[in-house]
Amino acid sequence: MATCAGDTSGEVAGYIPELAAVDPDGYALALCVHDGHVYAQGDTDTAFTIQSISKPLTYALVLSRLGTAATDAKIGVEPSGEAFNEVSVDERRRPRNPMINAGAILTASMLLPPVKSVDPGTVDRVFGDIVEFYSACAGRRLALDESVYRSEATTGSRNRAIAYMLDSFGVLDTSVEAALDLYYRQCSLTVTAADLAAIGATIADGGVNPRTGRQVMSHEVAQRLLSVMTTCGMYDGAGDWVTSVGLPAKSGVGGGIMAVLPGQLGIGVYSPRLDQHGNSVRGVQTCRELSTNLGLHMFNVA
Ligand code: GLN
Repeated sequence: MATCAGDTSGEVAGYIPELAAVDPDGYALALCVHDGHVYAQGDTDTAFTIQSISKPLTYALVLSRLGTAATDAKIGVEPSGEAFNEVSVDERRRPRNPMINAGAILTASMLLPPVKSVDPGTVDRVFGDIVEFYSACAGRRLALDESVYRSEATTGSRNRAIAYMLDSFGVLDTSVEAALDLYYRQCSLTVTAADLAAIGATIADGGVNPRTGRQVMSHEVAQRLLSVMTTCGMYDGAGDWVTSVGLPAKSGVGGGIMAVLPGQLGIGVYSPRLDQHGNSVRGVQTCRELSTNLGLHMFNVA
């Protein structure tokens, strides 16, 4: 961490007003190893919103409930090579992957009943399932940051446009507003760097949370997450990331990055200043350093 600490380049995510107010200097690193032990440094008590690191988790929930074929029929697994908030669909009008907003909003929508009018109680219940699942992955109960949720829900025109575009293509089978609400809420669940490390370790261990011993997703689902995180998790920065860090990962505009060394460990980093892709500047650098110094690149042939 010491070598990256001085880098104050990048900007916090100002497009969500409440995120513009976070302390830009926060910095934390955590590693969760095979036996569940967590090693953490820096601002380890700082809680931040999970944002797009929620995307692989809701994708896991949908894969577990609907199966691979039904999920693949609606959402692709190809890297888009475009920004996270592009309206990126393939020739079948499927969002290109579940890690960009278009794919993630559609993923969340698939947990809701396939009717155009969904009552608020149903959205609450489905969100309860999401909280339950993310918490099982982290090994402790996660909570919603109400003000970030409200902030994004009232200003998120871009995501609203994406969702209505998907609806106009006829691929969003439920209430557009309910799907958006669910998506905004999942993005506003708060985590610490240690939580991200624990979630990463759960995926690394084929779906078994090493802290609780609970199987929270199947091996097949964990393998699918690792694959999609490798190719799409860092958006249009994915190629550079895989080349230099070599770990499946997911970033969020809250400043978090979760990286996974399959079969070994989970890494959580927090630093809210972002690069042009929306990835944490010091988070990327810290992972690069860790990977080089500890030889974590998944294609390490040395
Ligand atoms: N909630 C954010 C959005 O939809 C998540 C984006 C991100 O973390 N990259 O814009």
